[in-house]
Amino acid sequence: MRIAFASGKGGTGKTTLATNMFAVLAREIDHVIYVDADVEEPNGHIFLNPDKTDVIDVKVPVPVINHEKCTLCGDCVNYCQFNALAILGEKLLTFPALCHSCGACVELCPEKAISEKQRAIGKITKGSSCQAGYYSGCLNVGEALSPPLLRTLKSIISQRGTAIIDAPPGTSCPVVEAIQGSDFVVLVTEPTPFGMHDLQLAYNLTQDLNIPSGVVINRSDLGDELAREMIEKEGMTVMLEIPFRRRIAECYSDGKLNIESDPEFSNELVKLYDQICQVVGNG
Ligand code: SF4
Ligand code: SF4
Repeated sequence: MRIAFASGKGGTGKTTLATNMFAVLAREIDHVIYVDADVEEPNGHIFLNPDKTDVIDVKVPVPVINHEKCTLCGDCVNYCQFNALAILGEKLLTFPALCHSCGACVELCPEKAISEKQRAIGKITKGSSCQAGYYSGCLNVGEALSPPLLRTLKSIISQRGTAIIDAPPGTSCPVVEAIQGSDFVVLVTEPTPFGMHDLQLAYNLTQDLNIPSGVVINRSDLGDELAREMIEKEGMTVMLEIPFRRRIAECYSDGKLNIESDPEFSNELVKLYDQICQVVGNG
């Protein structure tokens, strides 16, 4: 079972929920893994302190031009919908950071003037934490396209057992790639107008992808009733409400897991997992 933790906006407590859920499940069941798919800013390691065993470079193919063969016909430039190729003066230029590695320019060049080389875009770290599996993707600084890294990350995690996927915040392409294929999405939010607006977008995304979802309201006592009214009106299911507890904030700022000092939080997460299992059909 793959359970993704997502949020329409950053700062809702998504990683706190995901890392603590992973740590709780690692005590309770076999074959649990944590997958940090927030590849532009992975920070699950701060709380899980993993033993790292392996680092894999993730590479994608990008075009290389043989300028002696190129006649500057412009076919490849006209075809590339990502503006990764351009003719400037007497030279065909490539912009590898914009290339989506579709390979079309290689195929269509009438002069066979385009080949490919591999370009590193990020890394995947494998290891263990809480005596269970830990995987984390990290996009290289300055890279714009995280979906290829996310696809590789998802392809190397086992189908067996339970994967806790810590998705990026927001609702853009990286989030779609991270949650696609999940059995359930936990939408972590806070009861503020901004929180509700972004929750709505994230919920719509799960609906579009046809993935069941449930809402966790973090710092639930700090907002107003309008938030809850909107959640109910939109037909979302609130699975857990976590009132503000100073201890949770202290653990976060200390880079510690809350469950180590907050048995109440552990119990809440176990109940949340049980609810998810019932929805997915593993209960
Ligand atoms: S399609 Fe081939 S020949 Fe034409 S501009 Fe591109 S690389 Fe040059
Ligand atoms: S591989 Fe695809 S995206 Fe990359 S430059 Fe060629 S046509 Fe454009």
